[in-house]
Amino acid sequence: MNMITNHLPTAELQALDAAHHIHPFTTQDELAAKGARIITRASGVTLTDSEGCEILDAMAGLWCVNIGYGRDELAEVAARQMRELPFYNTFFQTTHVPAIALAARLAELAPADLNHVFFAGSGSEANDTNMRMVRTYWAQKGKPDKKIIISRKNAYHGSTMAGASLGGMTPMHEQGGLPIPDVHHIDQPHWYEEGGDMDREDFGLMRARELEKAILDLGEDRVAAFIAEPVQGAGGVVIPPDSYWPEIQRICDKYEILLIADEVICGFGRTGNWFGSQTFGIRPHIMTIAKGLSSGYAPIGGSIVCDEVAEVIGGCEFNHGYTYSGHPVAAAVALENLRILDEEGIIDTVRTETGPYLAEKWATLADHPLVGEARSVGLMGTLALTPDKAARAPFAGDKGDVGYICREFCFANNLVMRHVGDRMIIAPPLVITKAEIDTLVARARTALDLTLEKIKKDGLYE
Ligand code: PMP
Repeated sequence: MNMITNHLPTAELQALDAAHHIHPFTTQDELAAKGARIITRASGVTLTDSEGCEILDAMAGLWCVNIGYGRDELAEVAARQMRELPFYNTFFQTTHVPAIALAARLAELAPADLNHVFFAGSGSEANDTNMRMVRTYWAQKGKPDKKIIISRKNAYHGSTMAGASLGGMTPMHEQGGLPIPDVHHIDQPHWYEEGGDMDREDFGLMRARELEKAILDLGEDRVAAFIAEPVQGAGGVVIPPDSYWPEIQRICDKYEILLIADEVICGFGRTGNWFGSQTFGIRPHIMTIAKGLSSGYAPIGGSIVCDEVAEVIGGCEFNHGYTYSGHPVAAAVALENLRILDEEGIIDTVRTETGPYLAEKWATLADHPLVGEARSVGLMGTLALTPDKAARAPFAGDKGDVGYICREFCFANNLVMRHVGDRMIIAPPLVITKAEIDTLVARARTALDLTLEKIKKDGLYE
């Protein structure tokens, strides 16, 4: 068998990695100088690296390993499916059992009349699908001018041309001539950073009403859809004010536009329900899914589509699809993952036990001198770092410098906690226990202490 060995010395693996492997979202030269940390295996919520260190993975890989690492059932299902039917396409009037079964199961799990699934290989691809699908929907209804998709600044919807255009990340738009035409961004409901003296709920309403203003300014006859994450994940776990989603829903109900909930992070239990839309009372026409769908064990994503949109699209040939749409191995793995999430009551535990427990423990970090805000929903949490809690002030230095220092202390102390600017974020596997949450919060506090000490010494605490 052609196996990649884990037994090369770390430095040799790092040198090979630096020589040949281009990493996503990375300054290659800096990483090459430093050497990437090499993860060799994992179990539950714990990663092991090539030096034998055990790391608590408070990011569930990349927000995806919802059932935790090391579940043999998924490996066995994958092996069985590879032997039986490793691949077949779904383009040419053919289908296969894993795609059928997964689509049917998703229709059962998804709320309301979201009964139809178009499969993709990732969240980015699924949002590309959504963009083409909503435009095709309106064209089929005799309204080809309804093309504009409204999204939000600081949203994340993927890294393909359409995904990154829908997203509202300025550094991504700066590379490659984005956004592509007919995508419009409104402001985000980020009260902590942008709310100033306003009451949190009033601010939520104000930001939601930007959608109505945009629809009126652009013209209802030109707007196809609004897309948003129930909770902005990569933007820093921006949990919207309670007033926000009901007002967005009111606006979407009033005007003739489609609502796309990007559930790539919030889906499959992250917020304590199967979908973030259920936690926030959102009634989307389309949901984007990926990540937790297979707990990251196989690459798969998709769009869950309501009856009306599916029916209209069904009237034409939708000239769109991916070789790996509904890949049988990935679909079989996803089905097994959904079975485990369901039968082990993992999502109920998040809603009733570990989510509330994390909320309580995470909130204790708000007493730390560096922390201006500590919030969580389900099993996703965020800390805002600040030199001045009362003013919710940013640091005087470059945004993200302090967050990066804190992240480095976390990593050095065997905790994966990510930074987005000067916010620290977590989204651990949904199987995390209360004892592991205690460890997570203790390590986070240590990292905050070390960060405070260092930035005071380096003159960055201002
Ligand atoms: N949408 C959201 C909300 C995401 O968080 C992500 C990935 N972080 C994506 C889409 C893109 O998914 P992928 O990386 O699988 O293409």
